[in-house]
Amino acid sequence: MLRKPILAANWKMNLGRSEEALAFFRKIRPGLNEIEDIDLVICPPATVLQQFAELLAPTRMALGAQNAHWEDRGAQTGEISALMLVDLCEYVILGHSERRATESSQETDQAINNKLKAVLSHGMTPILCLGENLEQNRAGQTDAFVSGQVRAAFEGVDAAQAATCVIAYEPIWAIGTGEAATPADANRVIGISIRGALAKLYDEDVAQQVRVQYGGSVTADNIGEFMVMPEVDGALVGGASLKPEFVELAREIVKSMPSGS
Ligand code: PEP
Repeated sequence: MLRKPILAANWKMNLGRSEEALAFFRKIRPGLNEIEDIDLVICPPATVLQQFAELLAPTRMALGAQNAHWEDRGAQTGEISALMLVDLCEYVILGHSERRATESSQETDQAINNKLKAVLSHGMTPILCLGENLEQNRAGQTDAFVSGQVRAAFEGVDAAQAATCVIAYEPIWAIGTGEAATPADANRVIGISIRGALAKLYDEDVAQQVRVQYGGSVTADNIGEFMVMPEVDGALVGGASLKPEFVELAREIVKSMPSGS
């Protein structure tokens, strides 16, 4: 099955002031405007989502948030609900490892499942992040852990909705470390642990429709090696999305496509 590549920029807690976000975007916009045939998603901090909704509207690029609460409204000080994002964003990153295990958020599998369902119910596309830590990797627990994360996140989600989701396989030890997984390992985990779990939960058709990105120290130099892997449909990029290099990274994805030049 031919799946459309998807490249997403996760700016994390950077470029959250209007002027700095705009200054950087002005640098990358001309190059990104020329990118065709792949889905490009910019996920800036919540403070500039409104501004970026307007900036991206005339472009082919889509806007993503970095998190969403599952309740539409209520006594949740500081939270931003999926409902609040609906007029701004097409995508929402969910379950990033920096939210699953940090002292400020401690997101559980149950919370991520609630968020996934809320984002889908409001017609947006989740970019569901999952991946093992170094100890799990070394202990040979990657498959069991990652497939367990898939099962927990998709609990109660029907097949039609599941097929529209994007998953980012992000081994925690590869995020922001400069030490990416090998393309062959990423391909194996995505094929066996992620698509395998989806096929068991739903069917092979759903497993083949879901787009799965690799994330973890992706650069313009290494993205080509990931994109030739049959299970890898793009990348979720942190550090390199904050540099002008991001344009080159997007170009490399286009080049890796069968008709790319
Ligand atoms: C990320 O934040 O999702 C990520 C993959 O970061 P980096 O590209 O910096 O490893």
